Amino acid sequence: MRAELRIDNRYSINRRRLRAGRHHFDDPVEAADVFLYEVTAEEARRPFSTLRRADALAQTNSRGRVTLTLPSANGTYLLRILPEFWSEASVGPNLSRPFAAGAGRVYRPLDIKVKIEGNPGRARIASATTASRSTADGEAWSVRHDGLSIVLQPVWVTEHTGRRRTKSRTDLIVVHLTSGSDPYGAVRKISSHAGAHYLILKQDGQVIKFLSDTIQGGHAGGHGHSGTPYWAGDTNVNSRSIGIELENVKPTEDESDFTEAQYQSLLRLLGELVDQHGIDPRRVIGHSDLAVEMNIRDFDPGFRFDWPRLGRAGFGPPGPGRGYPTLRSFTAAGPAALEGLYGGLFQGLRSDPELRQGDNDTGSVYGGRPQGNITGEPIKEILTDLNKIGYWVGSRGPGNTLDEDAMRAVRYFQIHFFATELGAPPSSGRNARLDRETAIRIFDAAAMNS
Ligand SMILES: [Zn+2]
Repeated sequence: MRAELRIDNRYSINRRRLRAGRHHFDDPVEAADVFLYEVTAEEARRPFSTLRRADALAQTNSRGRVTLTLPSANGTYLLRILPEFWSEASVGPNLSRPFAAGAGRVYRPLDIKVKIEGNPGRARIASATTASRSTADGEAWSVRHDGLSIVLQPVWVTEHTGRRRTKSRTDLIVVHLTSGSDPYGAVRKISSHAGAHYLILKQDGQVIKFLSDTIQGGHAGGHGHSGTPYWAGDTNVNSRSIGIELENVKPTEDESDFTEAQYQSLLRLLGELVDQHGIDPRRVIGHSDLAVEMNIRDFDPGFRFDWPRLGRAGFGPPGPGRGYPTLRSFTAAGPAALEGLYGGLFQGLRSDPELRQGDNDTGSVYGGRPQGNITGEPIKEILTDLNKIGYWVGSRGPGNTLDEDAMRAVRYFQIHFFATELGAPPSSGRNARLDRETAIRIFDAAAMNS
């Protein structure tokens, strides 16, 4: 008796359809070798690297299909799937490209335990369970008409065929979130545009690699459509950074929170990247931190992303809220502590300690009105500090006015340094405010980052 296997890409599953019992695949795995052994056979225990292609029972066709003749004896067997290009390495800097030219897809190999039952001549696959060490390497389940559906976890996906530029250095890591309805769309978008280097899937934290770390991606923008990125004096962000995308769908809703599996994978990946390339671990930032001229990156990776958690692990620009001085320490020290902060501005503005767009040192306009009791250039000091942390504060650098560019920097600072504390993103445009606590955190973060 024969059984048909269908082997597809794991990321192409539409999970809603899967839950509804309707499978939807359109990304077959071609040229995968299939082996079948009794579970007690020696070959069932050997590493994948020792399997010889010549011993394969069959190989998938261009539609990812393969037909097997089942053994006549009932029992439990091990079905071993060895893709044409495969790797068991951790997906990170050590997953390089030892693969043949044209290896656009690299997968995890997969072991599946199948139970074969039935009368002689009428055997069928009664059940299938994943036997690989990690169930995240793929999945298998039986389908009607003596078949199996198998999905393999990709670890490397390349579709973009344009010329690739080698970076001159790698000293910055940029964290992003994807948008879209499913992992399939995210994979397609990243691979076809050669955007980021890595994608971390939401459901189980699986990491897919798209570009070698030393190859330039386009994840930071800067090609005219989304403004020029900037961080800490540099605008050539793509040519020196690694981009990591976190799969996430609707960033403004509760359901959009990142998963524990994603954070664990991200922390593991950051550790490996920092070690491998000698990157200063403080140079891990979000896409919104790079934003210049545009507001479209507000949610990338957004105010729900747990920067403090990364900070406790030693990644990202140091900031308040991690055991460093915060508003609480200022409060405990009494109003006197505020005297030294930006010329006493936030002590002087007793009734409404909030700066807004248009405020300036030149006319001593703070909080929308002239204030007689403020000396010095507090706005310029604040913008100098924001710029010291890394933010772009306008084409002429730190000035004496809270103009639109300066308020945008304040907002992106808030998105990052108040991450996980806000129930909603900080206000934008004319409603944006620079309050006392923001000023204290800017002061602290600048001190810690200099
Ligand atoms: Zn982004």
